[in-house]
Amino acid sequence: MDETKVLLAEQEIPTHWYNIAPDLPVAPPPVLHPGTGQPIGPADLAPLFPLELIKQEVSQERFIEIPEPVRDIYRLYRPTPLYRARRLEKALDTPAHVYYKYEGVSPVGSHKANTALAQAYYNKQEGTRRLSTETGAGQWGSALAFAGAMFGLEVTVYMVKVSYQQKPYRRSMMQTYGAEVIASPSERTHAGRTVLEEHPDSPGSLGIAISEAVEDAATHDDTHYSLGSVLNHVLLHQTVIGQEALRQMEKAGEEPDVVIGCVGGGSNFAGLSFPFLRAKLTQGKKTRVVAVEPTACPTLTQGEYTYDFGDTVGLTPLVKMYTLGHTFVPPNIHAGGLRYHGDSPIVSLLVHEKIIEAVAVPQLKVFDAAVQFARSEGIIPAPESAHAIRTAIDEALAAREAGERRVILFNLSGHGHFDMAAYDQYFAGKLEDYEYPRELVQEALAHLPKVGA
Ligand SMILES: *Cc1c(COP(=O)(O)O)cnc(C)c1O
Repeated sequence: MDETKVLLAEQEIPTHWYNIAPDLPVAPPPVLHPGTGQPIGPADLAPLFPLELIKQEVSQERFIEIPEPVRDIYRLYRPTPLYRARRLEKALDTPAHVYYKYEGVSPVGSHKANTALAQAYYNKQEGTRRLSTETGAGQWGSALAFAGAMFGLEVTVYMVKVSYQQKPYRRSMMQTYGAEVIASPSERTHAGRTVLEEHPDSPGSLGIAISEAVEDAATHDDTHYSLGSVLNHVLLHQTVIGQEALRQMEKAGEEPDVVIGCVGGGSNFAGLSFPFLRAKLTQGKKTRVVAVEPTACPTLTQGEYTYDFGDTVGLTPLVKMYTLGHTFVPPNIHAGGLRYHGDSPIVSLLVHEKIIEAVAVPQLKVFDAAVQFARSEGIIPAPESAHAIRTAIDEALAAREAGERRVILFNLSGHGHFDMAAYDQYFAGKLEDYEYPRELVQEALAHLPKVGA
């Protein structure tokens, strides 16, 4: 790259994150203490998170400056590219214009690096020596391991045992960055030992791994806990995606009519869409924003908007969100990152207020879309991201039906290079669709905590 290009790219990395909180039409309900049912304060969170992140969690400041050391590492892969999917448009024979923002170019292959770097930075600043976290499919663990290496922090990752065994290369990746990876449930924590006593062969779950990582942080003074989605500060850090996309769409001379993202806890969806929602909330723009989830874990489309725990065991604060019940165990679909019983409180609020839409799509149609995308655009998407592709294709086909020139923008949150076993199963005809498991959800909803209004 010549010098002008470097300078141009430099200007395109945002200097601030966008905080949607002051632009929300109603304030999000307070977060409640799991024991007392009273609103929590900063002191309750201090054993787990650095002060700066606790401040961001409740901030009403619209733009928050990105620290220069974080921006400096963003330079490794940001700005990420925005592409127009011309070959896909042609394959679909649609008058729609389809654009996608590609976060798979980060060193770890997904958007999760955007918040991992920020979280590692603030922890390092405040003297944390080690970070503990959980990982299911391995994407978040990889991102935090990478961030730990960049800022000189030790990282301990509790990895759901079945993934630890089935995804050895995600584990190798974390170890390459210097992280310690422990199969969960483990002998390392009280929570893990309790599970193992009862079920020595437990395959683990994200809920158990969260309990182990939180206990590790809570019982070590030099250790903090780190979460890769759901929390307000995580969504905030991801807005670099949408801020860049706003400018890139401007350069392309178009404005999206529809903005689409897949939703596990809501962070990549919020990251792309919140900067576009700002114009909708404050200037009356008509942009449609669509959150996409699996039919096997239909939190936003079939869940209840109520207070629930963030984890399975019931250790975390209570937040008001769409939930399938914290004891709900979703079917074992391949989009591991979308198997969460709850959702971000802000994304939930926006759905509840009908400012954004939510749809659920089944696994087989998601893989149809993933393969069609790979064969036209060349990039093999993560199964999670393929949910957004499915909906983008459906929108493009609807535009064809209506004979309408719709501009569609979606987030391609990561590549699928570590998910080829799922593609194998799809080609072997072994993938199944799971519909909304109504009885299981009803059963889990019966265990909702009895607090809040
Ligand atoms: C983790 C992950 C998701 C889901 O998490 P969100 O917080 O909802 O973004 C989606 N896509 C990829 C590639 C992921 O790694």
